[in-house]
Amino acid sequence: MHFFLWNYIEEKKLKKIVKQLIDLQEIDSRFDALQLQKGDLPLMIDELETELEVKKTEKEELDENIKKGEADRRMFQMEIEASNEKLKQYEEQLYKVQTNKEYDAISLEIDTKKMEIKELENKILQSLEEEEELRSNIANLDEELQKIEDQLNEYRRELNEIILQTEEEEARLQGGRENILADIDKRYQWQYERIRKAKAGLAVVPIKKNSCGGCFSAVPAQKIVEIREMNRLYTCEYCGRILVWVDEGIET
Ligand SMILES: [Zn+2]
Repeated sequence: MHFFLWNYIEEKKLKKIVKQLIDLQEIDSRFDALQLQKGDLPLMIDELETELEVKKTEKEELDENIKKGEADRRMFQMEIEASNEKLKQYEEQLYKVQTNKEYDAISLEIDTKKMEIKELENKILQSLEEEEELRSNIANLDEELQKIEDQLNEYRRELNEIILQTEEEEARLQGGRENILADIDKRYQWQYERIRKAKAGLAVVPIKKNSCGGCFSAVPAQKIVEIREMNRLYTCEYCGRILVWVDEGIET
């Protein structure tokens, strides 16, 4: 075979391989972006659902405390009524006493009952203050719960939208990938996969501003000319990624 013809065929082959690698990178980068989008949302939804449960339990506990406070106050009130009854009896007795000793004894009982009643009244006031604080905490919790629920609904809606969109796009990307893999020289595919695995998913990068689009190291001018001619596959001497020339730049 004539050397120039051979050269022409090899060059044409390489141009096709470069094109295939660029397409493959575009497809895989898009895949990664789709997975990343989906990968984040389920986790965020999970976290919010847990937070929602925690706050709901917190609210239930506050509601319980309010009920307990109400029961306590009913009990204090009954004790006050009983003490008032007793107080009335003592005061009636006080009129009928015969001795100073008796008078002193009943007076002491009266004072003690009055103090008991005062103490119970203070407990009721304290319980009412506590309830006010509990209700304000519940109002805050309700606000937080509402925010979490709104956010959850938003995330769930986003995830459903992504799932709906990606189903179709993923099938299309998968088809494109299979077409390329069925045709591409396996050596280049392996090289591509190896670099992609080692370099955070990015194996094929365009030259941007005379630099590697992956690691941003400068690419010598002579090398850029050769890369533009596409007569062999060039890799970045710093990061090892495959360097390609694209007029508009590929999506990465
Ligand atoms: Zn590089």
